[in-house]
Amino acid sequence: MLAKIDLPFTMTIGGRSVPGVERFGVINPATASVFAQAPDCTREELDQAVAAARAAFPAWAATPLAERQAMILRVRDVMVENQEEIARIIVAEQGKPYAGGLGETASLVRWSEAVAAMALDPVVVEDTAKARIVAHRVPLGVVGAITPWNYPIVQAFWKILPGLVAGNTIVLKPSPLTPLSTLRAGELLSEILPPGVLNVISGSDRLGPWLTEHPGIDKISFTGSTATGRRVMASASATLKRLTLELGGNDPAIVLPDADVGAIVEPLFRGAFRNAGQICAATKRIYVHDSLYDAFRDAFAARVARAVVGPGDQQGVEIGPVQNRAQYERVLALIADCKTQGYSIVTGGEALDGPGYFISPAVIDNPPDTARIVVEEQFGPVVPLMRYSDVDDAVRRANDTDYGLGGSIWSADPIKAAEIGARLDCGTVWVNTTQQLSPDAPFGGHKQSGIGVENGLPGLHAYTQFQTLVMLKPGTPQ
Ligand code: NAD
Repeated sequence: MLAKIDLPFTMTIGGRSVPGVERFGVINPATASVFAQAPDCTREELDQAVAAARAAFPAWAATPLAERQAMILRVRDVMVENQEEIARIIVAEQGKPYAGGLGETASLVRWSEAVAAMALDPVVVEDTAKARIVAHRVPLGVVGAITPWNYPIVQAFWKILPGLVAGNTIVLKPSPLTPLSTLRAGELLSEILPPGVLNVISGSDRLGPWLTEHPGIDKISFTGSTATGRRVMASASATLKRLTLELGGNDPAIVLPDADVGAIVEPLFRGAFRNAGQICAATKRIYVHDSLYDAFRDAFAARVARAVVGPGDQQGVEIGPVQNRAQYERVLALIADCKTQGYSIVTGGEALDGPGYFISPAVIDNPPDTARIVVEEQFGPVVPLMRYSDVDDAVRRANDTDYGLGGSIWSADPIKAAEIGARLDCGTVWVNTTQQLSPDAPFGGHKQSGIGVENGLPGLHAYTQFQTLVMLKPGTPQ
């Protein structure tokens, strides 16, 4: 199904297509071999990108909001016109099934329309005979946007859309493991955006730190692991850059005693194994009440065992490869630790034959709370099930983590479930579902899962700062 991808992927700097003086190979995780080259941005090229963004900022910031909003809808149109090509690139570089690649662009329709409809109205604090005081939201300047490898297009546009609507210009850096779809988006959008408004650069591991320490950047919007988030925060402190950090998660699901096992197996399967489990807000620990633990474990394991694993370009595949060798080895090491410690693996957990990074999806049966597979973010196709008998204890165990991104409660009584869910210390609580996201709902982490939010009006506001205008009326004494 996938045509060969032989595009000369280029960076977009100041509206120009820049092949880069250095390049690096990009690996297809289904074959474990290099299939394309991406530019390895040099310091000089980064300086050019930041300079282009700075030069474009005054005019873009002065462009009326309505025009910036209209531009976002043109961005949507360009992406939709090219969604098949983008999806093919995502499958090749990221590994997910083709429908998931298409879904990344498809979700942008709703996102762009929602962001384009958001108002940035000034707040009139006082308007009297003496004075008029108005708090305006103005853009920050140049945003450095850094994205991970699990959803390259979704993560990039969660930053591009609000960043541009708010009047900022952007230097965007995708993960070196999945740079191509983002580079291609930059090339396509250079046809409609003014030069320098959106610059897309790619590079090896040296590039992220160069970007976060660059004095020409005013804000970093970062999505990635908690460990890297700490480094980004430290680096950004030198010039007091504004920060949004969307970091890792270890989301618990709590299945209450009144849950309908037959109804919850499929959504929990998808919650844990969609995108091969490589989602920040994937269900990463499942606590099941003792009274239905065995029934749930057996039905869930049977569903997981039926999952079709294979290359994302094959029809019917549900779970693709793990995206990269380091993550593949990390997930296999977590599974090996379960074996060494004597925990029962109900299904899966094997490295599959072939060159790609395929692992049969695994379910671990009631490991202790101290197990690595419970404590650490696995970010892969393996999930532990844990028994509990007391709901308060389940909530305590679910909260016993430095992460706090999301969590879910499963019950026949959604009101009761929502009350219990409110006791989870996390940014999003789902009841009888998971990973339902809305462009109008703030999404972000508590604790070490992040700082700030994306999406919703607060997500747009994160790309602005206040400028308060205090104006004395004529004749008013000082
Ligand atoms: P990562 O932290 O390794 O890399 C993320 C990005 O940061 C990449 O572009 C990388 O090149 C860059 N980077 C690496 N070191 C850097 C440094 N020192 N300075 C600046 N940039 C640097 O994360 P990953 O492995 O690509 O992604 C997986 C992680 O991302 C998981 O922990 C997952 O939970 C998290 N994630 C979070 C969200 C969210 O919204 N909270 C969404 C998706 C993924």
